Amino acid sequence: MSQIWQLSYLVAAVTIIFSIKWLNSPATARRGVIAGEFGMLFAIIGTLLRNDVISYQGIFVAFLLGAAIGAPLALKMPMTSVPQFTALSHAFGALAAALVGTAEYIRETATGFTMVALAVETLLGFLTFTASVMAFAKLQELIPTRPMTYKGQNFVNLALLVLAIVLAIWMVVTPAPVWVFPLFSALALLFGVLLILPIGGGDMPTVIALLNSYAGMSAAAMGFALNNRLLIIAGALNAASGFILSVIMCKAMNRSFTNVLFGAFGQVQAGPAAATTAKPVRSATAEDAAAILASARKVIVVPGYGMAVAQAQHKLRELSDVLIKNGVDVQFAIHPVAGRMPGHMNVLLAEADISYERLHEMDEINSDFSEADVALVIGANDVVNPAARHDKTSPIYGMPILDVDKAQTVMVIKRSLNPGFAGIDNELYYNPNTLMLFGDAKVFVSELVKEIPAAVHA
Ligand code: NAP
Repeated sequence: MSQIWQLSYLVAAVTIIFSIKWLNSPATARRGVIAGEFGMLFAIIGTLLRNDVISYQGIFVAFLLGAAIGAPLALKMPMTSVPQFTALSHAFGALAAALVGTAEYIRETATGFTMVALAVETLLGFLTFTASVMAFAKLQELIPTRPMTYKGQNFVNLALLVLAIVLAIWMVVTPAPVWVFPLFSALALLFGVLLILPIGGGDMPTVIALLNSYAGMSAAAMGFALNNRLLIIAGALNAASGFILSVIMCKAMNRSFTNVLFGAFGQVQAGPAAATTAKPVRSATAEDAAAILASARKVIVVPGYGMAVAQAQHKLRELSDVLIKNGVDVQFAIHPVAGRMPGHMNVLLAEADISYERLHEMDEINSDFSEADVALVIGANDVVNPAARHDKTSPIYGMPILDVDKAQTVMVIKRSLNPGFAGIDNELYYNPNTLMLFGDAKVFVSELVKEIPAAVHA
């Protein structure tokens, strides 16, 4: 029996590593998800076959309970709610790790390295649990999404964390009085809540990636405490990938970790640009835009958050099909933080069956804009704002952007001149080569689909 569970663990570890590798590219992501699911299945089978299982009934009840919560969540979740449901699943994972740590602490008097592992597991587990629940609540708008700040906040948070760490050291160095562990757990839970308060809803996806990393570290620590190698491997992979993802997101927004965690970004939202400026913009109808698109040789489409809100991806596929049919070279440029979650645009465009070969990352396509006849921006704003290149006072200064303004004509589909996530005006809209196409993304793209054939024959 021992060989079977060990083999099962080995298969699980290898499959999970491949899963992460395949999740790297949209073309293999589906395979990556399936591999990850099989990895988990083998991990569960291996664990159930281990000799140290005392009662299968308890495990079966827990399985039913977990399935009763997880299955409806997964089935009912709309694509736009992926970030908050990811937060919720981290919350469950972290709580499980923290509770296992608590049980181990109560069951036997851990000492030395095992106690260090237990302390790390419970500290990260409990704080990730409450922080993830808070992240979920902010994204679901159950609590205000704006950053909630007060004087001395960072000091209070740091003091709480330091106190929890001091209690952890106490438990490691010598058997501590019984009240120490409950207080330590309560501080970790409270720290999780306070950590999220000053962070705005828009920064939550980055924070969720970081919490993913904490949950992974907690699981890896649990692996050390329980002497379970699979937990160490899976936890470490989870911790590393979550951390790398949050670094990528911070870099793409040109923000530091400290700015995301303590910067209270998005607190002061600038008013709509239209209300404060009287600069003229050029706007056009669907008919005019269709004529320009139909006569173009190369069109680069830049989707953003507005495309996701309007669910315009299927109509966009139709538009791209009709243009390609008429000999236009159509490519898609994906900014790493377009939308509100990592890979947001890739997922939506893949859902609409837009070929992966036409999707290009920012670094790969940026030099092509100068050769494009049209850059068609659909519901994107911050990721194409030229102020990021030169305006040192801008909150997005330094963020790498898609160079749409280098195209011969820029067409921007959005409903108004209102700002996007960063809350700032976009000078792109006032450029002489920019045409504003005002309207809902799905409605406007549908009109373009209808107008193009007539424009081609005109
Ligand atoms: P954005 O700057 O937030 O702008 C989105 C634009 O979509 C808005 O200006 C809005 O203008 C328009 N819009 C909304 N609903 C629309 C509809 N139904 N039809 C047409 N347009 C609509 O979006 P982005 O350019 O994609 O930039 C993403 C921002 O989110 C960046 O600042 C990034 O740093 C931040 N962020 C991203 C992530 C991530 O993981 N992707 C995570 C955290 C933060 P109107 O109201 O005028 O229509």
